[in-house]
Formats: sequence, C-alpha cells, structure tokens
Amino acid sequence: MQLPQNQNRKETPEQFEKWIQSKREERKFLRAFGTQQTVLKIPVVFHVIHDGSPVGSGSNISESHIIDQVRILNEDFRRMNADTTETPSMFSNIAADSEIEFVLAKQDPEGLATDGIVRILGSQDVYRPDQEVRLMAESYWPHDDYLNIYVTDLSGANLGYAQFPFSNLSGIATELENYSRTDGVVLDYKWVGTNLSTGSFDSYGRTATHEIGHWLGLRHIWGDGGCGFDDYCNDTPEAGGSSTGCSTNKTTCESQDMIQNYMDYTDDVCMNLFTVCQKERMRTVLENSPRRVSLLTSHGLLEPIQTVNDLGIRSIVSPIQSDCMDDVTPRTEIRNYGTNSITSYEVLLKVNNVVIETISESNTLEPGQTRIVSFSPITLEAQISNEITFEVSQVNGTSDQNSLNDQKNRLLSPFNIVEAPYYENFESNMDYFRITETGEESQWEIAAASYTTTDNQAAKAGFYEQTKNFGVRDFLLTSSIDLTGINSARITFNYAYAPRLQENQSDYFLDGLMVLISTDCGETYSDENILFERYGYSLKTANETSSSFFPIGKSMWDEISLNITRFVGQPNVQVAIVGVNGGGNNIYVDDLFVGNANLKEYDLGIKDISNISVVSCEQNTNSSLEIRNYGYATIDEMTLQVNANEETQEFIFNNLGLRSGESDNISLDISEFTVDGSNQFDIQITSVNGEQDQQAINNSVSFDVLIDQSEDYFPLKEDFLYPKWTTFSPDGTNQFDNMT
Ligand SMILES: [Zn+2]
Repeated sequence: MQLPQNQNRKETPEQFEKWIQSKREERKFLRAFGTQQTVLKIPVVFHVIHDGSPVGSGSNISESHIIDQVRILNEDFRRMNADTTETPSMFSNIAADSEIEFVLAKQDPEGLATDGIVRILGSQDVYRPDQEVRLMAESYWPHDDYLNIYVTDLSGANLGYAQFPFSNLSGIATELENYSRTDGVVLDYKWVGTNLSTGSFDSYGRTATHEIGHWLGLRHIWGDGGCGFDDYCNDTPEAGGSSTGCSTNKTTCESQDMIQNYMDYTDDVCMNLFTVCQKERMRTVLENSPRRVSLLTSHGLLEPIQTVNDLGIRSIVSPIQSDCMDDVTPRTEIRNYGTNSITSYEVLLKVNNVVIETISESNTLEPGQTRIVSFSPITLEAQISNEITFEVSQVNGTSDQNSLNDQKNRLLSPFNIVEAPYYENFESNMDYFRITETGEESQWEIAAASYTTTDNQAAKAGFYEQTKNFGVRDFLLTSSIDLTGINSARITFNYAYAPRLQENQSDYFLDGLMVLISTDCGETYSDENILFERYGYSLKTANETSSSFFPIGKSMWDEISLNITRFVGQPNVQVAIVGVNGGGNNIYVDDLFVGNANLKEYDLGIKDISNISVVSCEQNTNSSLEIRNYGYATIDEMTLQVNANEETQEFIFNNLGLRSGESDNISLDISEFTVDGSNQFDIQITSVNGEQDQQAINNSVSFDVLIDQSEDYFPLKEDFLYPKWTTFSPDGTNQFDNMT
C-alpha cells in the first residue's frame, strides 16, 4: 500500500491542504442549511488487465471476487463492517460512517448497458508500479465519469496504488489534464476481495479501501514522517511511523496508535475504521475536486436508457480538415444503441445547416454494431468556415427514440491556398492548422524556444506532460500550397528534441516525428507519402533529460531538408508535421519552408563508393557506386568514365529511372584494370540523359587500391569505405546532401 503516485506534481501538498481546509469550512456552513446530499455514490469500473488466463483464474479474477470487493468497500465506507466491534473504545466515538457508496457502473461511456467489468488481455503479464501509464493505456473510461480500478499482476510485493486528487484552484487546469490518464486505483489481483491465501497476511479487500482513501485525499495515518508529521486530521493520534501486522497496543509519540485505521499498513484483519475528520476530507474532495465531483452526477450511476429503435452518430470519419477546392467525401460512423435489430435507416448530411443529402439504406445492424455511411463527394465554399453535420433522421421506418446521440458536427476552417514558397516561422502568422487524428484538442502550440535568438518562438508538441492518447498522431498542417510553375521543390525545417531520461526507457512509448504530404486537400495522408520518420533516440537532437525539454541555442536543433520534387506540378499540396505522442518529452519545430529547391535540371552525383578494400589480395574487385539525382529531371541514362593505370573506358547505364532526390547503387567491375601493387582510379560522370551534367562538383571520385597477392593471411573482411567523394569536393558540402 504505497504512496499516491503523483507526488512530483506541481500542486504542492501545502496548496492542496490550504484548499481543502477552506472547502471544509464551506461544507460546515452549507450543512447548517441542510443543502448537502447525505450518501454520495461513486460509479466504478474494474479493468481486469490479465495475462490470458481463463476467467476466474490467475490475474483474470472472477466476477464474484469483484462483487465481494464492492461489498467490502461499501461496508467499510459505511461503517457496516462486521468488525466495528474491534475498534478500541477510545476511538469508537470518532469512528465514522463516511456515507460514501460504490456502484458498479451501469452504463459504459457510450451509454450502453454494462456490468462494470472490462476484461483486457494485457500487453504484458506483469506490470511494475511505475508502468501505470502503460497499464492504464490498455483500457480507459473517462475519469470524469468513473472511478477506474485496474486489477492486474503487480510486480514484487506491490499491493496497489492510487492517484491523489487535485484542488480546483485556478492555474492547475493544465496539470490536472496532464494526470487525467493516470487517475484511478491499481490493485494487485491477489488483494482484490477476500483471499485467504495471499501470503504475508490474508486479504479482506482493504487494500482497495486504503487506496480509495488516498484517491479521495486521505494521507497515511503517520503523516509519512515521525512524530510531529501531520496527516491533517486532528482526531487521528500522531504516530512515529507505519504499523504492520496487528500490534493493537502500540504506543508512539506518547499516545496509543490508531493501528485500526484503514490508512495505516496494518494487516487487513485488524483494520476497521475511518475517523470523522477523514470522512469530512473525503466528502470535501468528492464534492469539490475536479474529476471527483463530476462522478456524483455521472451517467454511469444510472440504468441505461435503452430504447428499442436507437441509431446514433458515433464519430465523424471524414472530412478532417479539407483545405482546398477539391471535393471531399463525407463519411460518418453510426452505431445501433438500441435493443432492436435495425434494418433500415436514414442519415442526413448538412453543410452550414442546409441538408445536402439524405442517405436511406437497408442494412442490418444488430445492437452494438457499427457501420460507416458514405455520402457523395461535395464541394465546399472556399472563403468561409464550413460546418458539417451528420444526423440520424429515421430508424426502421420510424423516428429515433433517443435524440441525445443523433447528431455530430465538425467546423472546418476556410480554405487557404498559397503559392510556393510557403514559410512559417511561428512568430506571428497563423498560416497553419492544428488537428489530431481523434478530433481531440491538438497538442501543438506556439511556445518560446531559443534558437539563434532567445526570444524565438516555435511550434511545440508538449508530450512531456501529456499522459493521454499514446500513439495518437497530432498534425500541424500547412495551408494548401500550389507547387505548379516550379521545377523542383523541397521542405526544410528545424526541429529539437531531447528524449526523456527514464529509469527504463522501454517502459514508455516512443515519441515520434513524421512529415507527410497530402495531395488530396488534406483528406488523406497516405503512408506512402511519409517523407521523414524518426522515433525515440533516433529523433534526439539534445541530451536526454528528466525535465521538460526546452532548447537553448542553435546547437540543440537539427536542420532537415527533404526533396519533394516528385510533387511538383500539383496545385494543392498540404504538408503535415506529425508529432506522435509517447508521453516522453517535448518536440519543437520551427522555420518550416516549402518551395523551390532551385535544383539544376541535370545534376547527377556520386554519393558514396563501397566494397573496395584498401588492400585486396584478389584481382576481381567489384565496386559499388552510389549515385544520387541532385537535379530535378528524372535520369534514365548515365555515362561513366573510368581511368586507371593509364587506361580509359566508358560505361553506359540505361533505364535508371532515377527521380529527383533518389539514389541508386550500381556495381562496377574494375578488376580488369588492376595490376599488382598500387592502382590509382578516377571515376567520373561524363553525361546524363545524353546532356552535360550541370554541376561538376559531385561528378568524380578518386581512390587507390593496393593489390597484394603474396599476403594471404590479410584480413579479407576488413572493408573500408574509402574514400567518399566529399573528399574531392572543395567545401566538403553539398546543398542537398542530407535530403532524403
Ligand atoms: Zn498508502
């Protein structure tokens, strides 16, 4: 029974205590007017994250165990437990009925009937307590509406843990959101409900009582310190430390310890009370704290209002953000939320509140089933915002009986097509869009990010504090860019990223950065059009850090240049910089340029040469030459001239089909030129597509090969890449050498 897990949050215990104190005063005042509910009910969902064992064995615990646990919680919190008689008389007058009850959820997040138990095959068999992010990502119901209790096999001797609540003071909204995905209680399966073979002591289900105590704001009875440390409750005596076992007459800090309190570490069998003060704290939290107070009015507490004919709009599939004049094809996901089979239905599409199309279909949807409904392509007006609405209008030839889920809207920004070049430095313009795959709020924001100047601003994907939606792609979109009228094109940008320093990196998801291109007005970003993709450590531009990453100076940034000449001629190109959330650290992107690459028409270069040993004891030397098209024209033919030992020969290569920015490896047999001893080779590109190459600087390579047939013990495996062509380039650089 450990500490709450969010101990390093920014809201300090002192701030929280000050807040709870003021709320307790308010409660007393309100109670005087009799305006408070008496019994507060909390809807609970148990997520059983198991190892594949059949239901009822191992970590896949039975339903009866869960029902037993709920019974124990209700008895303990209502002081209806059979062992109230064990409370020492000196504490019995302050032992309290908390008037808090727990109810297995009756409705799931979508309003469908549930037994409040979700069973998920975990991605791993055993979870460490610091893997809460991973564990909770396996199954999630909104924490505003449910107390999420995760049951799994916790590593070591861990029984359970919980997240402490937050105040509703202003200024903590961001932090509150950051912790939204790890709220709840985690229990080792062996300690759920009654279990008399748990080992060190028998389980009477009080691990859950203790952890929910934390989740409702209670601190350990000994104040997590010695005498003089406070649990912020005056009716619990000070204690010198935790108590284990069942030492009923233990005295520390000059008074008898309340080892019977659920917030001690005593064996389950010896625990039996919460105090009046603890009751007040828990109820204060439940009535005021964000993500707690909303539970009291959660639909999870209510019987599902399931009607016979109830078709609902579940999600909007398309459009996500259409940004050019082309047609979009609206699509929506519908679901049968009713009890009847649905055999026919009508769904409307509205644009700016005007019905555009009504689709009537005769498909069978059993209760719970979903289906995608596609509408005809439409053309949206360019200069205005467009609101797309999907609406269920008829089910089984009659009107739908539950209007709450019949409609969903999406507002699309006005179109904006810009001619290349497009440039965004995130200082003042707003020529970009931020959206997520899931329609939730985008994590891209504008933030200070020191580059060559300290007041520089950049786009920031703040994944350090993001504990939601792992793996979700978060898009930063350019306007639609017209790439007609230029011969070559490129994307350049700078980015900065420091991986998060973790004890065990593999326990966290990897942050990622991708660059994608859409040529259909942002409707699809096909994986074929991924131009750039890096994850985790390969994304790193600065040293890993355990704090929230902020770049300091240019050395922490990487410059990326991508050749997109193959998209030249397209009138609507949208570039997406995509952050993939791994909850690791922040990614910054700045100075995004999309425009003319100013490439020469014919510019083929030798990028690398390999398979040539410095010393070779055999004469059949096959070299592999990597050539790259640094120009914009597609190159089909190349003439290569090889000079060696005063001999010259030309090689012609055909059907290369090398597009702008592409590389190819060609093999060249140079064995017939070699003689025993030192061989000097010069290789040069002399023509491209029958024309002269327009940039000579990267056209030739020179190297030596030493042939020595007498040394047969020489290590043949040692293949040096010798030398690279850049040795022969005066400034050692080429503008687009790093274009991928
Ligand atoms: Zn604890």
